[in-house]
Amino acid sequence: METLPKAYDFRATEQRLYQWWEETGFFEPANDPKKPDFDPGIKPFVISIPPPNVTGELHLGHAMFVSMEDLMIRYHRMRGIPTLWVPGSDHAGIATQMQVERLLAQEGLRREQIGREEFLRRTWAWKEKYGGMINRQIRRLGASTDWNRERFTLDPGLSRAVREAFVRLYEKGLIYRGPRMINWSPGLRTAVSDLEVEYTEEPGFLYYFKYMLAGSDGEFIPVATTRPETILGDTAVAVHPDDPRYQAFIGRQVIVPILGREIPVIADEYVDREFGTGALKITPGHDPNDYQIGLKHGLPVISVLDEAARVNENGGPYAGLDRFDARKKLWADMAAADLVIKEEAYTLNVPRSQRGGEIVEPMISTQWFVRITPLAEAALEAVRDGRIRIVPERFTKVYYNWLENIQDWCISRQLWWGHRIPVWYCQDCGATIVARQDPQGCPDCRSRRLEQDPDVLDTWFSSGLWPFSTLGWPEETPDFRYFYPTSVLETGYDILFFWVARMIMMGLEFTGEVPFHTVYLHGLIRDEHGQKMSKSKGNVIDPLTVMDDFGTDALRFTLLVGSTPGNDMNLSIKKVESNRNFANKIWNAGRFVLGALNQAPAHPESEPKWTLADCWVQARLRGLVRDVDRLFTSYQYGEAGRLIYEFFWSEFADWYVEIAKLQLAEGGDRAFYTAKTLVEVLDTSLRLLHPFTPFVTEELWGHLKKAVLELQVDGDGGPDALQGFSPDGGWEAALMAARWPLPVAKEDSEERSVNQFGLVMDLVRAIRNARVEKKVAPSKRIPAVIVAGERAPILQQQGKPLSALAGLDPSLLTIQQEMTDKPAGQTALVVSGMQVFLPLEELVNKDEEKSRLQAEMEEVKSQVVRLEALLASPFAQKAPTPVVEKEKQKLASYQETLAKLDEQMKILLA
Ligand SMILES: [Zn+2]
Repeated sequence: METLPKAYDFRATEQRLYQWWEETGFFEPANDPKKPDFDPGIKPFVISIPPPNVTGELHLGHAMFVSMEDLMIRYHRMRGIPTLWVPGSDHAGIATQMQVERLLAQEGLRREQIGREEFLRRTWAWKEKYGGMINRQIRRLGASTDWNRERFTLDPGLSRAVREAFVRLYEKGLIYRGPRMINWSPGLRTAVSDLEVEYTEEPGFLYYFKYMLAGSDGEFIPVATTRPETILGDTAVAVHPDDPRYQAFIGRQVIVPILGREIPVIADEYVDREFGTGALKITPGHDPNDYQIGLKHGLPVISVLDEAARVNENGGPYAGLDRFDARKKLWADMAAADLVIKEEAYTLNVPRSQRGGEIVEPMISTQWFVRITPLAEAALEAVRDGRIRIVPERFTKVYYNWLENIQDWCISRQLWWGHRIPVWYCQDCGATIVARQDPQGCPDCRSRRLEQDPDVLDTWFSSGLWPFSTLGWPEETPDFRYFYPTSVLETGYDILFFWVARMIMMGLEFTGEVPFHTVYLHGLIRDEHGQKMSKSKGNVIDPLTVMDDFGTDALRFTLLVGSTPGNDMNLSIKKVESNRNFANKIWNAGRFVLGALNQAPAHPESEPKWTLADCWVQARLRGLVRDVDRLFTSYQYGEAGRLIYEFFWSEFADWYVEIAKLQLAEGGDRAFYTAKTLVEVLDTSLRLLHPFTPFVTEELWGHLKKAVLELQVDGDGGPDALQGFSPDGGWEAALMAARWPLPVAKEDSEERSVNQFGLVMDLVRAIRNARVEKKVAPSKRIPAVIVAGERAPILQQQGKPLSALAGLDPSLLTIQQEMTDKPAGQTALVVSGMQVFLPLEELVNKDEEKSRLQAEMEEVKSQVVRLEALLASPFAQKAPTPVVEKEKQKLASYQETLAKLDEQMKILLA
């Protein structure tokens, strides 16, 4: 029989297993509409991966969602549910275009110089060369995605879906084109959505100046602004109708500084009398609020900036200047003209482009928009009526709030990389043609001089279709029919609006169904001190380095166990390191179990006689399976992982394995049933751990299966003999395709075993502590007397494990119910109401012993006082009866302990 290598070598294992899984077809759905034995009646579990940017390099955000989704997928697959996890990537309009423009800049070129066609050719070439990296890195994380169904947002099928979606919305009157106030990114020369603008607090100034009244001699209205260059586009000054300072000026004209245009003074209740001077300059062309006021009062809209944010011809003498140069020059000229009052330091909330970083300008621009309100109403309804559930629930409110206040969505971008807007303009009759296929001529005048709209669609337009476009929509493909709607959408809470809300709106609009029934949001990953990771702070953890150093399982386990739905988590390398140790612990336990198979006969002589330790570990395992099942069904994967870890490390490896060594040494049936228990616990634990740490569990499970099957072949039992160490139902082809352990109803005997073995554990712990305190050599076997009352008969059967684990001399161990003459001068312990006497006289220092007992009594007394107070408080009336009962039992146990300690003190002092 083979022996396992001493240490788990993740480097030699991960890639080999991944390749094996993929080649064997384990990542493909077990029930596949593309295969002949397909059964449409079985409900599948489906996740569409949040498509990473094709430009992307793996970061912890990817590692998080891949680990979490892979856990869900592996869990459902093991439950025997056909699963599909659709992988893919996003063309990432601005991000990709910027990469290619940067390369062009190195050649001293701009995209306009090479033209659209050549630019797109280069971008595709770039995508082919560098675009696959992110998905190779996702493979390293162990993602069990079906790579046969990989999609790209710009592939032909998805491009068709995008066109179909655009045309349908247009035909329903839900897409329109028009001049509107949008956020303009002068660096990228494109419109960006509200969500792509980040606001940062930055120091700036509030500039106070005079709006001189026309036809008067020195009368003026003082006005303040943070952006003086916008004065060039002012079309009114607004005051509050009830403001006595300015009431007389309402309806009169004021003069735009330097330009000399006359504009009206208007009254509007929107004006805040307390802010600044109480008078507001109105620039409908460059401020969203002013734009609204302008609409209300019918004010002209003057744009004064061009697409590079230089002052245009409307700016008079400042035309051609950059916005910030214009600000300086205009302000200097106004000072010279005695129009300046003062400048005041002021903290600004500066809108910056999320991609380019430059200050975004609100501008009026002709763009394409989606009329979003009808879509948003449907999306709100789907969550309100429970067709979609958001986990954790608190994000539901955030979702409602956003959708209730949503603005029309600007979907056109002045970029080249992306889905080009399927709209053509007839150069002869001016007709607008919106079509699924490129039109050959104008339907109105038959002209062939058509020009396509130069803009592309916002990247989120195509990713909004992702859950169904990846399955073949608008075609009624077998995949679309079977796998849609998908099941869970898992992502970070930071893209709830960017992406999740849009998929819900688009899904309902185009398929009439919610695209998924559950939205699971994970938190963001911060550094160990809770700081956001950023390159400038130098605290970024690179998941690739972590996997190189500690293995994928260690990284996955850390991310999964450290997270709770919707909450940010702090990640430290130390945690990953300790989880690498856990992988080693699992491996070492596996080595022990494989060794145990060699020590045990291949089949038993008779029916099992389980020891208390066997019953205990089996009961704890069943309890664990129940807990994990409950936690998994309520999306508390992290908590489930913690429980499995605790069980495996603290109970199985630290306790049961130690006792198993004694039982194996007995040989015969005892050894057989011990080995069988070891195999059962290891096998079940590996199954439970597999979705968290797929590599080490698969590798070890493969060795376990092989070892057991070899024994069955070697054994003389023949095919009809007992199944030896194999689990009920036999061994599956791979752990990733193995059955998930299902919970069974709790039996009374479980609690009894757990309680009884708990006494052994308590005694061992207490005696070990006493030995450490008294500095007894670990190898020294000591005598002991245990007075255990009615529990004595149970413990009398546990003399062997008790002696072995606590370092007692079994021939000098007495366990009895009562004791009339308590031995004096011995170390005496009180453990769960039992008394233990350890004749360590030579080691006992009376003073030390006294202070130890005193300290212990203080501690117990404080618990008694606390519980008495608690039970006398309103808690006792309000809390559920079992909870109160539990507290009462605790109190009784503390009181009993206190009495025993008191007795020991008397013995000591006697
Ligand atoms: Zn025409």
